[in-house]
Order: sequence, then structure tokens, then C-alpha cells
Amino acid sequence: MQPHCIFCKIVAKEIPAKIIYEDEHVLAFHDLHPQSPVHVLVIPKEHITSLAHSSDEHTTVLGHCLRAVAKIAVELGVSENGYRTVINTGADGGQSVHHLHVHLLAGRQHGWPPG
Ligand code: 5GP
Ligand code: ZN
Repeated sequence: MQPHCIFCKIVAKEIPAKIIYEDEHVLAFHDLHPQSPVHVLVIPKEHITSLAHSSDEHTTVLGHCLRAVAKIAVELGVSENGYRTVINTGADGGQSVHHLHVHLLAGRQHGWPPG
């Protein structure tokens, strides 16, 4: 746990979040400022700063995050219509919270290329 990391604090239940999925490795909760009708963040419970900071030892937990996205999408009823998954990394990627997270965006058509 990183002491000043907001997502580590959500994992530790020190600050509230609308949690919709939790297992040994992964936590998922609704984004505070949704950009789509469904906007969920899936994070590893372990603090990993970004994808760029990940290493081979994180392969399993990264896989867990993606499988959690797929399961949550089914649970939320958006799997059939589809969804956008985004991992922003670093400054050019537009990452603002420095604890790796996968955005699950659904409930509308998402354009390409992204902004
Ligand atoms: P990033 O820009 O790093 O890819 O995404 C960070 C996301 O975290 C943003 O969509 C932002 O709205 C969300 N966020 C930031 N702080 C909080 C918080 O305290 N709680 C929740 N639920 N979401 C947050
Ligand atoms: Zn963290």
C-alpha cells in the first residue's frame, strides 16, 4: 500500500467507493466522474503505479483485472452490446491516478480514434 495513493485507500476501505466486485486480487468500483452511462474502474489490490511500472511478476494479476472486466460487463448487462476498455499510462496517456486501473466504459457508442 502506498500511503498517499487514493486507490490504495479505497482498497483499504479508508475512503468510500461504490464497490461492485471484489476478489483476492482485484477491486472494481464506479468512477466518481462517469464518462459513459457505465463507467467502472477495475484495479489490482496491489499497488502498481502504471502499466509502464509493471513487471513479469504482475502477469497473473493483470490477467485477473481483464477477466474481472469481462465478468462485470456480463453482470451489468453490457457484454452483448460491447464496451470500451482503457488503460491510461503516464503523461501522454492521460493518467491522472497513479495506481494502475482499467476503465470499463459502456452504455453508449464509443468513437475511434479516442481523444
Ligand atoms: P485516469 O485519468 O488516471 O486514467 O483515470 C482516473 C479515474 O479515476 C478518473 O476517471 C476519475 O474520475 C477517477 N477517480 C479519481 N478519484 C476518484 C475517487 O476518489 N473515487 C472514484 N470512484 N473515482 C475516482
Ligand atoms: Zn495505490
